[in-house]
Formats: sequence, C-alpha cells, structure tokens
Amino acid sequence: MILKDKLFSAFFPSITVCIGCKTKVEDISLPLCNSCHKEVDYYNLETICYRCGRVYHGGKCPAPNIGKVMALAPYRGYWKEALNLFKFKNNRYLAEGFSKKAVSFLPNHIMEDIDLITFVPVTAQGLKERGFDQSYLLAKKLSKKTNIPYINSLVKNDTRSPQRFLDRRERFKNWDGVITVVNKDKIKGKKLLILDDVYTTGSTLFHCANALKGAGAIEITAFTLAN
Ligand SMILES: [Zn+2]
Ligand SMILES: [Zn+2]
Repeated sequence: MILKDKLFSAFFPSITVCIGCKTKVEDISLPLCNSCHKEVDYYNLETICYRCGRVYHGGKCPAPNIGKVMALAPYRGYWKEALNLFKFKNNRYLAEGFSKKAVSFLPNHIMEDIDLITFVPVTAQGLKERGFDQSYLLAKKLSKKTNIPYINSLVKNDTRSPQRFLDRRERFKNWDGVITVVNKDKIKGKKLLILDDVYTTGSTLFHCANALKGAGAIEITAFTLAN
C-alpha cells in the first residue's frame, strides 16, 4: 500500500465487512454487524465490581485510589479483535465507533460529576511505532460528544525493567519516574475521568491516579474499552 492510501484508510472507514461473519457492516464506525455485535458481553453497571470493572466477584481489587473503574466489555472474542484493529493496525477512524459506545454506556449521573476527561498516554517510543495515541483520540471524541473538556495531563516515560523478575516492593519502586503530571494548575481541585484502552492488572491506572491526586485532582473515575 502506498503511504497516501495507508493514511486514507487510517482516517476513513475502511473495514466494511464484519470481522465475525464477513457480511456487510451496517454502522461502519465499528467492524461488527448488528448480529455479531450481540455476542459482545457488554457489562451491566448494576452488576459490576467498581474496583476493577468486571462482573461483581466479591473479591479484593486494586486501585483503591480510584472512585470507580468501568469497562465496556471483556477483552476477548470480537471485541478484542476490533480493539486490536484500532490499536495496532492504524485504523484510527474506529475511535468514532468506540467513543459512541462509551457515550451510551457511561451513565449521566456519573458524567455530570466529571470536570475534565484525560487519558493514559502512550510513551514516546509507542507513539513512534504506532503513529498515534489511541487513548488521546478517544478522549478527544468523548469530549466532543459530551461537551466535557479534555486535557493532556500525563506523560509516560517507560524505562521499567520487566516486572516479572521483581518482587512486590521492587515492582512499586519500578514505577518511579514513569508517570509525570503536566498541566498541574488545570487539574487542581478537579474531578477527572481517565481513559485507557485495556485494563489488565490495574497498575497503570493506579499509578496515574496516584500522580494526578498528588497534583491536586480530587476525584478519579476510570473508564477503559475492555478489561
Ligand atoms: Zn457479523
Ligand atoms: Zn473487582
């Protein structure tokens, strides 16, 4: 593909057949037809654990510094495929479809209480490899759809050693200097909604929330596309 075509397909809907059944997609802002879409297990906010965004499990979860953690659906099946097409295959136009889903999922009573939308940024290296920041795009789209301003509040400078060789204390220490807060004056005293693409262990969001609260944010709510 020549560069011009590549750019075109990144910004404009280019996947017109369903990733599940290969029939034509009705709403091309996501690569799923209505029928395959029904197979995505969207969470129901009445039955989730607000500490991790998964179906309530009575367990002890991380992220005690985040008021609520919500996710759209589990990171599996068609949802995972769609997300990977967005994140790794440069289909940045899919931010539109995902943000639409986010708007219909996030309840008004929670959104009414949010002052600013922010996001977990990719590292400079990640940006170089991928060419764009998926969570930034989501924040921008969600901001436009909800009229809540978005802000660039974090810089991620990932120089960590692989976590698997470290014990608990070393793992925590390993995060030193990874997350830096920018625009501190603008987040002071504010309630933030922080976006990320996938929630796995929650440690990234935990450290971001710590940094934001350290800089004066008063409440953090987290939302991810999958977990
Ligand atoms: Zn289908
Ligand atoms: Zn939980």
